[in-house]
Amino acid sequence: MGRVAVVTGGTRGIGEAICLEMKAMGHQVIANYGGNDDAAKAFTEKTGIPAVKFDVADYDAVENGLTQIESDFGAIEIIVNNAGITRDGVLAKMNCDNWNAVLETNLKSCYNTCHKVVPGMRERGFGRIINISSVNGQQGQYGQVNYTAAKAGVLGFTKALALETAKYGITVNAIAPGYVDTEMVRAVPPEVLEKIIQKIPVGRLGNTGDIARAAGFLADERNSFITGSTLSINGGQFMAN
Ligand code: NDP
Repeated sequence: MGRVAVVTGGTRGIGEAICLEMKAMGHQVIANYGGNDDAAKAFTEKTGIPAVKFDVADYDAVENGLTQIESDFGAIEIIVNNAGITRDGVLAKMNCDNWNAVLETNLKSCYNTCHKVVPGMRERGFGRIINISSVNGQQGQYGQVNYTAAKAGVLGFTKALALETAKYGITVNAIAPGYVDTEMVRAVPPEVLEKIIQKIPVGRLGNTGDIARAAGFLADERNSFITGSTLSINGGQFMAN
């Protein structure tokens, strides 16, 4: 059955692939994005999926954006908290702006969206919440205290919210991707990337479809017994439980 599905940061990279997967499953998909209008326009022209601009870090903007989506398309039943940024640097050189931006875009965003959609999901007795974390939130990464803290926070958020919503037909799960071939990873210097690939047992970067298929699986209404879980998709780079 088609449901209304929102994917934050859905116009590029992993989010775009998740949008396409959800659309192929028959859902009414709406992508959110932050500022790149050209990418959003190209995405909508290519996929036919509407794109709505608001900053996921901004509570009021999220409230307004999701209210508009619900009035245009109906109640949100699936949400994928995918929008994310990096602002790397060792702690000694990391300013407050770069700390705050990463925490707010990657972690506070989950609060912002869920605070809006969970009450309706509870009333209707159905919801699928999928939060995109990272292998670097599971194991820590040099030069990323902000990103590692945010993505580890996403895992804690997922477990706590899963407990709070389990009896209302809502599942809350996280995906922890390893290194996936997107613009975020293409920004890593080639010599650093080469060393990263050497540490991935399957010998390659992930592709966006690797992550999107997992999001589709977690969104499937038949998968109502999986909640509070983290699905690691990293080519064997880090085997966590
Ligand atoms: P990209 O940089 O390719 O795309 C990011 C998307 O997020 C864009 O659509 C962007 O919109 C949107 N976005 C960024 N900031 C905001 C904001 N404040 N409000 C709304 N939308 C925003 O990222 P990836 O596809 O690589 O990453 C997607 C997710 O996966 C992130 O959470 C990332 O941390 C995580 N991840 C990625 C990995 C990788 O190897 N790529 C590995 C592990 C986790 P716009 O185009 O307008 O900027």
